[in-house]
Amino acid sequence: MDISEYSYVVVGSGLLGAVIAERIANQLDQPVLVIEKRDHIGGNCYSATDPTTGIEYHKYGTHIFHTSNEKVWNYVRRFITFNTYQHRVLSCYKNRLYPFPINLATINQFYNRNLKPYEVEDFMASLRQSQLGQRADGGRRDAQPAAGPPTAGAPTNFEEQAMSLLGRDLYEAFFKYYTIKQWQVDPRHLPPAIFNRLPFRTNYDDNYFFDRWQGIPEKGYTHLFERLLANRKIKVLLDTDFFEIRHLLKKDACLVYSGAIDRFFDYKHGKLSWRTLRFEQEIIDKADYQGNSVINFPEAEIPYTRIHEPRHLHPEKEYTGNKTIIFREYSLADQGDNPYYPIASEDNQRLLSLYRKEAAQLKNVFISGRLGDYKYYDMHQTIDRALEIFETCILPQTSTIHVV
Ligand SMILES: Cc1cc2nc3c(=O)[nH]c(=O)nc-3n(C[C@H](O)[C@H](O)[C@H](O)COP(=O)(O)OP(=O)(O)OC[C@H]3O[C@@H](n4cnc5c(N)ncnc54)[C@H](O)[C@@H]3O)c2cc1C
Repeated sequence: MDISEYSYVVVGSGLLGAVIAERIANQLDQPVLVIEKRDHIGGNCYSATDPTTGIEYHKYGTHIFHTSNEKVWNYVRRFITFNTYQHRVLSCYKNRLYPFPINLATINQFYNRNLKPYEVEDFMASLRQSQLGQRADGGRRDAQPAAGPPTAGAPTNFEEQAMSLLGRDLYEAFFKYYTIKQWQVDPRHLPPAIFNRLPFRTNYDDNYFFDRWQGIPEKGYTHLFERLLANRKIKVLLDTDFFEIRHLLKKDACLVYSGAIDRFFDYKHGKLSWRTLRFEQEIIDKADYQGNSVINFPEAEIPYTRIHEPRHLHPEKEYTGNKTIIFREYSLADQGDNPYYPIASEDNQRLLSLYRKEAAQLKNVFISGRLGDYKYYDMHQTIDRALEIFETCILPQTSTIHVV
């Protein structure tokens, strides 16, 4: 089939695009053209096997599938099986490892105590009381003046929010410089809501996620995408930028676009800004380098934020070699070619609302996904969004439903 003949065109083979293409092919029994500018399918969830160590790794950063959404969980397990991996993170502070997010083990280890769960609240309250009035920056000479005392009224920024819960010591050890490294922004200029996303537990539960289900695809994420895109009615064009072949496509085709929304409109209102990540890969001559899949490095003096060791993502696999692969993660401003995290600023929100207004005028064009919505989505949220677009926007337009 010539590309000009497709009535369904999907831009991007990440989760959003792949799920929608799968639905169109399997449920509507219609041909779909998937256009992908990278040389592989899977978007940022892409995984591959490292040729030197034989270890499965995630090229764009460690991805843990987790969800409490039963519809999404049932959907995704129609294509693959997950292993039993449970995400547990450690944080390395002053050369000692602490369980993270902060839980009772972290607090007891940090303060050399043996508190019981019911003693934590009073202990934290007494810490906050004793630290009241102390400077959040500990008097560092490079620090700017504090935005306000942490206890004065409701917290108005990330730092106040964190200190009102954890006190100064835990905040500075595990959050302050980590946040500065990750966002290159003073935490006093970040909204309090960002801190609220991180759990704080007064028991020994060190599972990173609260969700009902989690795991890693046993055969890797790329296998999930191969299965999603397996229908012969789906044609995937790799190494192809949509904007270079747009003029060749059918004019009234239903278009699902999961690229950047500002690019779609040729940046006419200006560019949205992003943070990106750089991964420094190293093969180590040891079977196991750090004993855990992810370790955080929250101190200012260490330039990277995390070290990933993907061998630990697959406890069910027997990696017999005596080499391992690690990735040091650095956070930096995106120069426009590798967007990862949207930045919550007023300027970006203003631009986004202009682009959204334009998008709402378009007929038969659906712009979404993390780049299209300019929103951080976990994988289960992306799948949910894709199913919603299919069911509420694409399905009602057609009467030819093929039951699977
Ligand atoms: C560092 C990091 C870690 C993460 N970890 C987790 C995790 O542990 N758990 C979790 O649930 N989620 C995690 N996520 C989120 C997860 O990556 C996203 O939910 C998911 O990738 C979103 O899929 P998408 O299809 O919207 O976007 P993408 O995966 O980015 O796919 C978009 C695709 O569109 C293509 N494209 C863009 N423009 C064009 C164009 N003009 N022409 C052709 N193709 C184009 C891109 O090349 C890309 O392949 C993480 C995200 C990041 C950044």
